[in-house]
Amino acid sequence: MNYTPQMLQDYLAQKGIKSFKQKQIYEWIYQKKIYDFDLFSNVGKTLINDLKKDFSLDFIKIEKVLEAPLVKKFLFRLKDGEKIEAVLMEHDYGLSVCISSQVGCNMTCAFCESGRLKKKRNLQTYEMVEQIILIEAYIKKRISHVVIMGIGEPFDNYDNVINFITIINDAKGLAIGSRHITVSTCGIVPKIKEFMNLDWQVNLAISLHAPNDTLRSQLMPVNKVYNIPTLIDALKEYIAKTNRRVTIEYVMLNMVNDRESDAMELAKLLKGMNVYVNLIPYNETAHIEFKKSSKERIDKFFNTLKKAGINVTIRKEFGGNIKAACGQLRSESD
Ligand code: SAH
Repeated sequence: MNYTPQMLQDYLAQKGIKSFKQKQIYEWIYQKKIYDFDLFSNVGKTLINDLKKDFSLDFIKIEKVLEAPLVKKFLFRLKDGEKIEAVLMEHDYGLSVCISSQVGCNMTCAFCESGRLKKKRNLQTYEMVEQIILIEAYIKKRISHVVIMGIGEPFDNYDNVINFITIINDAKGLAIGSRHITVSTCGIVPKIKEFMNLDWQVNLAISLHAPNDTLRSQLMPVNKVYNIPTLIDALKEYIAKTNRRVTIEYVMLNMVNDRESDAMELAKLLKGMNVYVNLIPYNETAHIEFKKSSKERIDKFFNTLKKAGINVTIRKEFGGNIKAACGQLRSESD
């Protein structure tokens, strides 16, 4: 499940096999959900033997599932024993899954649990695809939305993430609409520029979390490499080029970035841009001293942005008590 349609087609072409076989093979795997090459009845014996030799349909494993109303958290064990997690959320508009893109993360954001688990490696494309397939099989329902916002920095694993999106979006793959797929990055500018040149409708979300460089560099070391002006310029270019609205994520940390003056500075920074701000109530974790902003402070921040003409929403909270906060389940499972 590492192969995009194009990669599979190239593989088949090398063997002199017609391109429609690619669609048939995709159909067996992603639509008929048959995971035994011998059952691919419209595929010839020679090709089946080659497929068996070159590919594996042996999945990663679900190790643990935590359930709460409207949310399920999955811990997966990879073939090398590493563990990652994904979260399934029931929204009124459908079922969405938040998947991981790396084992650990190198971005070391001060408030984030995943950053405590240094990156061990990138996830392979199949390890991302299989998170979705296994969750669909577990709940016996189709996933309509995918967000790449779990453990890891997706733009630090760019090629595998792009291949993953290509596969889940393909009509003969999992057929998840591109407008229903969102990639969230801490702001790796060169990759935002690459991403804007792809001809698709996949959504981009940016973890901003602070309205100025001083504060952002304290919270997010990546800001020392790509600071706010550089990031905002890239986003303006992205918006001009794609005509798509960008989501700005802003985690609400009590008395750190949630003051009235922060809201005003943020409004000024984003004024006139085609963005919407998603305020994220912070999920407190045992190892990190940041506290969640009170509901009153979040509401006040929200109102200040709104009054300043910024589109803003407050993220619905899921799973605080089932350790659904980024990286929490994974980091407590050793
Ligand atoms: N590396 C990517 C995607 C993974 S993090 C990124 O930075 O966007 C997904 C989002 O969750 C980010 O906005 C991140 O800042 C936020 N986040 C991390 N820890 C959190 C916590 N404890 N509570 C709430 N949001 C958190």
